[in-house]
Amino acid sequence: MRYVSTRGQAPELDFAGVLLAGLAADGGLYMPAAWPRFSAAEMKALRGLPYPELAAKIIAPFAAGSIGEAELLEMCHRAYAGFVHKATTPLVQVDTNLYALELFHGPTLAFKDMALQLVGHLFEHVLAERGETVRIVGATSGDTGSAAIEAVANRKNIDITILHPEGKTSEVQRRQMTTVQADNVLNIAVAGNFDDCQDLVKAMFADTPFRAEMNLSAVNSINFARIAAQIPYYVYAALNLGAPEREVAVAVPTGNFGNILAAWAAKQMGLPIAKFIVASNRNDILSRFLDANDMSVKAVEPSLSPSMDIGVSSNFERLLFEFLGRDAGLTAKTMADFRGTGKMVVAEPVWQSIRQQFRGYRLDDAATLAEIARFWKESAYLADPHSVIGLAAGRDCGLVGMPVIAAATAHPAKFPDAIEKAVGSRPPLPPHLSDLYDRKEIFTRAPADLNAIETLVRNFANRNRNA
Ligand SMILES: *Cc1c(COP(=O)(O)O)cnc(C)c1O
Repeated sequence: MRYVSTRGQAPELDFAGVLLAGLAADGGLYMPAAWPRFSAAEMKALRGLPYPELAAKIIAPFAAGSIGEAELLEMCHRAYAGFVHKATTPLVQVDTNLYALELFHGPTLAFKDMALQLVGHLFEHVLAERGETVRIVGATSGDTGSAAIEAVANRKNIDITILHPEGKTSEVQRRQMTTVQADNVLNIAVAGNFDDCQDLVKAMFADTPFRAEMNLSAVNSINFARIAAQIPYYVYAALNLGAPEREVAVAVPTGNFGNILAAWAAKQMGLPIAKFIVASNRNDILSRFLDANDMSVKAVEPSLSPSMDIGVSSNFERLLFEFLGRDAGLTAKTMADFRGTGKMVVAEPVWQSIRQQFRGYRLDDAATLAEIARFWKESAYLADPHSVIGLAAGRDCGLVGMPVIAAATAHPAKFPDAIEKAVGSRPPLPPHLSDLYDRKEIFTRAPADLNAIETLVRNFANRNRNA
């Protein structure tokens, strides 16, 4: 499979190239040159397969030319072996036509594990083939750092350094990062805030000699490999609900638009998804766009669902590219104007065609708590503050008789304060994390100073040489 940039000015790459590059050199996002297509009979043949086998079959055409199906299957088995549910992504019925697709049974209790656990193995494989070593550096406000660390821990030819603001993450978040026992993981507690951490990471990437010396890399959310790894669970769930003979809808708690874009990709591959419901919190740029063609940037406000607190959804560019008929020049111009003015101009007919498939839904914090209480009361289903917005969106969408798959993106135990406010008690951590508070923490403290951080990263890279 070849990959093209949405902005048309970067070299075409194969899957391995896209995996290592992340963002395209022209600032665009990589997309497959054409969507692989499964006939209805081929889709049906996937029904009943265990999750890792189905995943390998769905992802194989994207990796073709870089990674063979047998190797991919092996990696899928290893990636999803760390999930604590035999179904990997179980489907739980919540109402007559409403199903929670639980994507949070991985090591960090959130859906990022679905893609990142596999991406860790993909990196290891491709790097070994090329005889390369990369050092991943990243910053976290607490929420996403652990998924990246768990993805890369103990993978060969990769180190990972994650900067977190000391004292400014929750204890669960910090412990999920600092208790990972792997000698290729460096946690740095920075004396500063999240912006300081992010600025330090940007400064390391901007320091060209350091970047080259360390072969710096990132596992960012715009990597197409992550999108590819998020397609299989929609197929798995829809087949269980009667697809391809029966149409389904999906409702997805959305931030960067990666998860719902993967659902749309599943449709391009032949899965009959009739409607895509984009669920957001008060940071509602996508709902405003879908309701009134108003894609204008506003300041991000913190909410009870922090992983959806975004000002701009970077993966939306991929959908735009498709609905502009894959016109890379027009996509590049639209994105440049958007960046310049803070408002995206989408022609009325293009917007209407997007609206035929997508609709928006939003809940503020008070409504989010009320919905957690309501689903608990009416269906004995305890949803976290992200997942519950998708569930409410699915319940209220008015698609009569059509099953709605609502992506459940985090385990309620990850957000105990919100759950306590909504239903009066704190959910326990699941058994595989129940000893989190007893595990040994390993991290290094550092000032918010580029020199100090670069020295730590370099010494860590050379740790075996010095030993
Ligand atoms: C990342 C995340 C989201 C948003 O997913 P996108 O792919 O960025 O739209 C939703 N919920 C949770 C819990 C997440 O971690």
